Amino acid sequence: MTVETFHLDRPRSVAEAVRILHREKDATVIAGGTDLVTLLRDGVATPHRLVDVSLLGLDRIEWRRDGGVRIGALYSNAVADSRLAREYPVVTEALRAGASAQIRGMATLGGNISQRTRCRYFRLPEFACNKRAPGSGCSAIEGDGSGQAIFGTSSSCTAVHPSDLAVALRAVDAVVIAQSQRGSREIPMDEFHLLPGDTPHRETTLRPGELITAIELPARAHSGHSHYLKFRDRASFAFALVSAAVALDIRGGAVRTARVALGGVAPAPWRAVAAERVLTGKRPTAEVIDAAAKAATEGARPGKDNEHKVELVRRVVRRALTELGQR
Ligand SMILES: Cc1cc2nc3c(=O)[nH]c(=O)nc-3n(C[C@H](O)[C@H](O)[C@H](O)COP(=O)(O)OP(=O)(O)OC[C@H]3O[C@@H](n4cnc5c(N)ncnc54)[C@H](O)[C@@H]3O)c2cc1C
Ligand code: SF4
Repeated sequence: MTVETFHLDRPRSVAEAVRILHREKDATVIAGGTDLVTLLRDGVATPHRLVDVSLLGLDRIEWRRDGGVRIGALYSNAVADSRLAREYPVVTEALRAGASAQIRGMATLGGNISQRTRCRYFRLPEFACNKRAPGSGCSAIEGDGSGQAIFGTSSSCTAVHPSDLAVALRAVDAVVIAQSQRGSREIPMDEFHLLPGDTPHRETTLRPGELITAIELPARAHSGHSHYLKFRDRASFAFALVSAAVALDIRGGAVRTARVALGGVAPAPWRAVAAERVLTGKRPTAEVIDAAAKAATEGARPGKDNEHKVELVRRVVRRALTELGQR
């Protein structure tokens, strides 16, 4: 195994980092390196220039007067903020469900939501993959499709997005803050990840030259009553087969706002809008939860190898909502 030679920049300010990203069109950001280094090692990524952002001081968490919170892009996946756990439980539960303690200690929030797919063909350069090499074909469509997506796929790509955190962030209406030489802009989490269409190599709406500097969680009544549940092959150290992030604002016994987001089933964290509609305005009884769980699979298009994911989605949504109701 030989890693291609690359130039390494270690800027000390955000301004310097975005200047380099603007100037060097082929530069790639590296944060904790827990995903990118494996891609370099395996010859899947071959950047000529890396911009190490670990010295930028973007690792702080700042609470706002309105109850919302701004979390730096370099904040660790080994989250240890008790207020965050209390007010956004779905976020800390999702982080704790990921990887291992050692990896979480290295990994950052910005890197987590930007991590690349775990589709096995993407990670093995000897296989055709439209995401890695646009136009080369998709080995997963004819190959083993058991881990592939059931929502939002295209004839170009059926890979799933692997991040647990990104699913939770959709349930709390998070906003990604991106900085470039032109200034800062907000990208709602609902708009951050792209579905593959004809261009599966384009995965986010981040523009060339932009750096994620923070993730903001607005103050929302449903965020405090939220839960993340992940089904996986092993009890730890495994990506989601399917997962659900659920959040409910309940007033006078009835659901006022519902969020149901799914992981492990789509090329981007997936909002189960039909399930949210079933819950809204009703008392979250066992019957309503059951109906929401069924609605969560509306629009699913499983392939020959992954029909089991349809039933798993129903079960994970039912159980996540039931557990939330018991809190
Ligand atoms: C064995 C193993 C098991 C894992 N299990 C899980 C799991 O169960 N659930 C889960 O969610 N994740 C899991 N992960 C993935 C892990 O969470 C990610 O690798 C990690 O979060 C990435 O963060 P990082 O800071 O190391 O990113 P890096 O590896 O440094 O970067 C990852 C990507 O993000 C981009 N990037 C990083 N920071 C920024 C920024 N500020 N602005 C713009 N782009 C940026 C990089 O260019 C790169 O493309 C696992 C990883 C491993 C190795
Ligand atoms: S599903 Fe997507 S990532 Fe996997 S081989 Fe096909 S194009 Fe590549």
